[in-house]
Amino acid sequence: MNMKNIAIIGSGTMGNGIAHTFAQNNFQVSLVDINQRAITNAKKTINTNLDRQLNKGTISLAIKEQTLKNIRTFTNLKEAIWNADLVIEAATENRGTKLSIFKELDQWCKQAAILASNTSSISITKLASVTNRPDRIIGMHFMNPVPIMLLVEVIRGYSTSNETTQTIMELSRNLGKNPVEVNDYPGFIANRILMPMINEAIYALYEGVAGKEEIDQVMKLGMAHPMGPLQLADFIGLDVCLAILKVLQKGFGNPKYAPCPLLVNMVNAGMLGKKTKQGFYDYE
Ligand code: NAD
Repeated sequence: MNMKNIAIIGSGTMGNGIAHTFAQNNFQVSLVDINQRAITNAKKTINTNLDRQLNKGTISLAIKEQTLKNIRTFTNLKEAIWNADLVIEAATENRGTKLSIFKELDQWCKQAAILASNTSSISITKLASVTNRPDRIIGMHFMNPVPIMLLVEVIRGYSTSNETTQTIMELSRNLGKNPVEVNDYPGFIANRILMPMINEAIYALYEGVAGKEEIDQVMKLGMAHPMGPLQLADFIGLDVCLAILKVLQKGFGNPKYAPCPLLVNMVNAGMLGKKTKQGFYDYE
């Protein structure tokens, strides 16, 4: 399939990185968010990240300018998606929100369009069930920060066709990423393994086993992780971590996934990590 126009729903942490990556690879990107401030922030972040690449010498000024030109922003969904060959939904990790977005996408998008979700944990099969094109619904799970991280977890829902899967695998390779195909079970692979580790680190802090720096140091120096689990949780967003743990807990019916009360408290207090400048650590 010849893909040219890509629409991205949600311009938060992930949406801006996905937009950046496609635009730098010369796709025409429509980035839409219901929140104008999120769009303004996304444009700023993309510009800053392109400047970083420019200063490192990994892109030229011409590429920076072309990348920015390739991105158009919207607050109206219909205007953003009408000509999309592929839509990637990267809105808030909330099942109700995503189900209503997929219903609308199915109604307004071209018949041939593939509808993907960047969800960390919500069932692709469930999202497909509210559309009339379950064979063209798929998970395209990018990692944060998207322009840098090479993995794309490609999640096949129950009815996702081989053709859709192959198209998305090939597209991911064309973006310079390494796609890995997985099946649709709670948390897929990445978060089924990552989130229990992050939750355990939060429990260790909550129980006073060690301080935050100590916990992160053990995992960085001892396990060669580039970032400790508490810092990583801040980067992912504590609300996102909490939402994923709840999906794992409910999906498997297993209490081992129950989110640590400290995580719940921090989310209730609005300390969501880097995006709110306060989480386990403070950010400027
Ligand atoms: P975020 O909170 O930073 O951004 C979400 C954006 O979606 C917000 O700007 C919000 O205004 C917008 N939004 C909400 N409802 C909308 C709607 N109906 N239409 C358009 N925009 C809408 O969240 P995020 O961290 O970017 O996560 C987005 C998705 O990516 C989630 O499904 C999350 O699980 C997944 N994800 C996150 C990470 C991570 O590290 N943060 C990694 C991989 C996948």
